[in-house]
Amino acid sequence: MPHAEPESAIERDQRIGLHRIRDFLKIRTSYDVLPLSFRLIIFDTALLVKRSLAILIQNGIVSAPLWDSKTSSFAGLLTTSDYLNLIQYYWQNPEQVQKIDQFRLNSLRDIEKAIGVQPLETVSIHPQRSLYEACRRMLESRARRMPLVDVDDETKRAMVVSVVTQYRILKFVAVNVSETQLLRKPLKHLKLGTYKNLETARMESSVFEVIHQLVNNSISSVPILNSDGVVTNVFEAVDVITLIKGGVYDDLNLNVGEALQKRSEDFPGIYTCSIDDRLDTIFDTIRKSRVHRLVVVDEDNRLVGILTLSDILEYILLEGEGDDANPE
Ligand code: AMP
Repeated sequence: MPHAEPESAIERDQRIGLHRIRDFLKIRTSYDVLPLSFRLIIFDTALLVKRSLAILIQNGIVSAPLWDSKTSSFAGLLTTSDYLNLIQYYWQNPEQVQKIDQFRLNSLRDIEKAIGVQPLETVSIHPQRSLYEACRRMLESRARRMPLVDVDDETKRAMVVSVVTQYRILKFVAVNVSETQLLRKPLKHLKLGTYKNLETARMESSVFEVIHQLVNNSISSVPILNSDGVVTNVFEAVDVITLIKGGVYDDLNLNVGEALQKRSEDFPGIYTCSIDDRLDTIFDTIRKSRVHRLVVVDEDNRLVGILTLSDILEYILLEGEGDDANPE
């Protein structure tokens, strides 16, 4: 009978670290992640799409819950995917620009149908459910953010409280769980991140091309490489919001290099790491910075892979799950 290799100290620590994070997520709720004071911007579904863009930009946000005031009900979450779909629609029907100008947020579902994308299931969660459950739900639906919806005691109507994001949850873990320091296995020994079939582009690529890559592969960013395969930037799905502000689609004809020059002043920059890095240091980066993904590069800054918050969340929640009943 084959017997299992004895577990090394690093492996044992890694396992314990992951269990500690999961235990923490099981006893905390989405309410715990919310700041003491916050503002919530909700869009009425009758709002013009171009107005919604202006409001997002003014407030430095990239998504908003939707409210149908006709039925007084929660109507899902508006995200950058909706704008990417709109751009695909515009690309297929450029002659309809006048009509697109009059689109309201409640037209976005029809756009999904028109371009043949599967409508995203509107997932939400009660803010008092555990963060662990919130994370599982996000992973199952591949959502990167999820509205927190409570029920008003008096009216029994849905009440949107806030939106929880992968970013906020991982930052909360990074700040509060000291055992993230036990995660010392290097990336090259973890099945973590994507290293094959990477979608990349060049500064000369057209923005439309990159948008097709984002939509067709359900990804949120595309590394930009020079002719030597060196990573020079990353085009992010959120970059499109600035490009179509005011409902003017002309900037979509720019190339990636020109488009990236329009980024706002407070762009947090791109983060890279090496295949020898470990999750403990990656959690340090998450704690200190506004990071949504790390581009994995070699010593010459050539692209090796990509590690996003979705990958990290999936790993900390599911790795080895069901393998052992007894963590220590
Ligand atoms: P994201 O939507 O960016 O969180 O990524 C979702 C999944 O796609 C993750 O497993 C990523 O590793 C992977 N991914 C992200 N960007 C790319 C890309 N440019 N090429 C290939 N895979 C990617």
